[in-house]
Amino acid sequence: MIELRTPAEIDRMRAAGTFVGSVLTATAAASVVGANLLEIDRLAHDMIRAAGAESCYIDYHPSFGGSPFGKVICTSVNDAALHGLPHDYRLRDGDLLSLDFAASVDGWVADSAITFVVGTPRDEDLRLIDTTSRALDAGIAAAIVGNRIGDISAAIGDVAHDAGYKVNLDFGGHGVGRTMHGDPHVPNDGRPGRGLPLRAGLVFAIEPWFMLGTDRIVTDQDGWTLRSVDGSRAAHFEHTVAVTDDGPLVLSARK
Ligand code: MG
Repeated sequence: MIELRTPAEIDRMRAAGTFVGSVLTATAAASVVGANLLEIDRLAHDMIRAAGAESCYIDYHPSFGGSPFGKVICTSVNDAALHGLPHDYRLRDGDLLSLDFAASVDGWVADSAITFVVGTPRDEDLRLIDTTSRALDAGIAAAIVGNRIGDISAAIGDVAHDAGYKVNLDFGGHGVGRTMHGDPHVPNDGRPGRGLPLRAGLVFAIEPWFMLGTDRIVTDQDGWTLRSVDGSRAAHFEHTVAVTDDGPLVLSARK
């Protein structure tokens, strides 16, 4: 079901987005060489508790997950693309880390993700990060009244194809509201002018994620972490965005 949010509701979602952004800023700052993924999860957990927020992940148990997630943030390292389950791993120099975080504040959810290099970067990782981030910007720019979902998808896909990356369509953006995942689905590639017309009050996550060599993924033995089938590295950027009469409003903007 597609739900439209009032300006007052969008304001409350922005409060959730500001909190989600602050957790990503703090956990990214803590993601230094030698930091353990479990410490990063604990930091996010502490911030949730201090804010009186609620985790969207800890009890999350969809059909594709092996068991309830049990952690509050996704930490995807190197060839892990999505849903990286935090585990006892110390970050190493040159690791490519994606942090994906969603939380509910006063009953409203925001969802956002960032990717960065821990320590010394490789050129190909910086290019992947830059491309994926630009794809998010292009998708957000297309989130305007009068466009359709396919315009967002095409804008994202164009950036990927121009850079020579393939696009996996198994996971993409999604409606966000009282819960983390709702309609509409926002694929990371598609044809312009197709799909749901965008109206003021639509709120969804836009989340391009690309891998260096493949568009295929495999589930790790942990039942959650999705890795590239060929071991190539991945990047992921996400914002929760409201379509408004004044243009796209990024609810999860970071300070
Ligand atoms: Mg997310």
